[in-house]
Amino acid sequence: MLEALRVADLQLASIGFRLSVAGAPLCDRLEPGTGLQLHTLAQYAPPARDGIRAHFGLAGPVGVEGVVPGSPAVQAGVRADDTLMAINGTALAPAPAGEASTAQLAALHQQLAALPPTAPIDLTLSRAGRRIAVRVQPVAACFSRYELRIGNSFDARANGELVQITSKYLEAIDGDLLPAVVAHELSHNILRHRERLAAAGAEFGFASGFGRNVGLFRQTEIEADILAVHLLARARYSPHTAARFWREAGPRLMAGIVRSRSHPPLRDRIDLAVSEAARFTRPGAPPAPPPFLAKRNQPLDGDWRKLLPPSAR
Ligand SMILES: [Zn+2]
Repeated sequence: MLEALRVADLQLASIGFRLSVAGAPLCDRLEPGTGLQLHTLAQYAPPARDGIRAHFGLAGPVGVEGVVPGSPAVQAGVRADDTLMAINGTALAPAPAGEASTAQLAALHQQLAALPPTAPIDLTLSRAGRRIAVRVQPVAACFSRYELRIGNSFDARANGELVQITSKYLEAIDGDLLPAVVAHELSHNILRHRERLAAAGAEFGFASGFGRNVGLFRQTEIEADILAVHLLARARYSPHTAARFWREAGPRLMAGIVRSRSHPPLRDRIDLAVSEAARFTRPGAPPAPPPFLAKRNQPLDGDWRKLLPPSAR
């Protein structure tokens, strides 16, 4: 069970790392990309913690659950099940007491993300009782943490600093199509959609399907669908991944979305993904980033129709 979770977490982390690094030129919030997939004792339920400590050989509250293949962490010699003791000479905070929480993990991400994106990071590790010092040479990456949530329904969200998808995606969707989901959610973060929706007074949940909320949410969904194709292409996934994803998984996904009125019709999403991907298959220089990227610091206007390809307007 823990090993299956490790494989799944690393699968998501690897896709996220690849998209975050390739997408860096499109991001104005950057962080050091290391390929470290950390986990904390505090994120597990208290009764499970002794077993977790033993299973992963943890010598402290924060461990390396895995390292993304080929990443700076691997090149520096970091291995799965190393315990992270210090970052740039500063010892990590002790584990918080209490119920399972990812707060410590989130704080750790904030701490690492605040470092210059390409400056070396000195890590002190504990491996089988020995202290090891490594220097990781990070690469610039879009600011975003990736988290797999155990869940039996399709749920993917982005809150500005976190991309979270449920394990249902990994179980039910062809692995080749997963980057489309992750790229869509990362696009929401790059475009600051969560905070811009809040600034526009958009109402989340049931109310999102009514009144002016519909336009605001559809605008963010369509923008994320378009930018996702650019991220996929830059990360050298097929730009057609998004269209395939919507065709193959869309009907199952849309059935589960209660607030479906706030989301664009599936047919529009497929048309959009097809037409955006087609721009990448033409000869010549790759297409410029979508114009709305330059407006990520401006208020949303809710005009989603102008974003559709002419055929779908
Ligand atoms: Zn979305």
